[in-house]
Amino acid sequence: MRRKLAAGNWKMNGLRADLAELDALASRYEAPEVDILLCPPATLVAEACARSGAISIGGQDCHSGQSGAHTGDISAMMLKDAGAGAVILGHSERREDHEESSEDVRAKALAANAAGLMCVICLGESLEQREAANTLEIIGGQLSASVPDTATGENLVIAYEPIWAIGTGLVPSLDQIGEVHDFIRTQLERRFGAGVGRSVRLLYGGSVKPDNAADIFAVSNVDGALVGGASLKSGDFSAIIDALNDSA
Ligand code: PEP
Repeated sequence: MRRKLAAGNWKMNGLRADLAELDALASRYEAPEVDILLCPPATLVAEACARSGAISIGGQDCHSGQSGAHTGDISAMMLKDAGAGAVILGHSERREDHEESSEDVRAKALAANAAGLMCVICLGESLEQREAANTLEIIGGQLSASVPDTATGENLVIAYEPIWAIGTGLVPSLDQIGEVHDFIRTQLERRFGAGVGRSVRLLYGGSVKPDNAADIFAVSNVDGALVGGASLKSGDFSAIIDALNDSA
């Protein structure tokens, strides 16, 4: 049985005062039946870890190296040292803004796993790629190049995030979500065998909100969500967590 996971990505949002939202989540979910992960900006990771209770804290990126002359970057070991348990890698905003390739993502994933962090690796197609009926080809290529051979159900989570659905209010149909999630599951089983392939959790991300979460969580092979905008306010994120809990 895969444990459900609700993950929040604050992106470049959040000052120390906003950790009040985390406080609200931590007191509401003292012993949650689903896993909850919140990924604030790097400046808040250590403080968030000190007051997150049963909620795991993650980073939004890490460097593939352990240390060195990389101004502005942070290593997986630094996130781990700050108390983080996970890191988002290969988000489409990183792939676009920083020209990260899937090979870069795989190198980062290896570093993250070596430091003891679980990776949430993001995959997603552009609108042009979907309209050209290339979605599965794109997802398959990103999946095989981004995921290291050492993947397990404990050190890897995959988030399917169609680029055109992120922050836009647009959401694929439930059939479209199911098609991609079933495809990812099949690819993982082929590459890693049924044991590992069936144990990796698959999240959907892209405009998940309190009013569409329950329908999305009913789709086959959707084990949770990666939530951007709606994770900024504890009320909205709680409604999504509760929908996931009800689907479990
Ligand atoms: C994201 O940034 O991973 C995301 C899914 O954002 P949003 O929920 O705002 O679409």
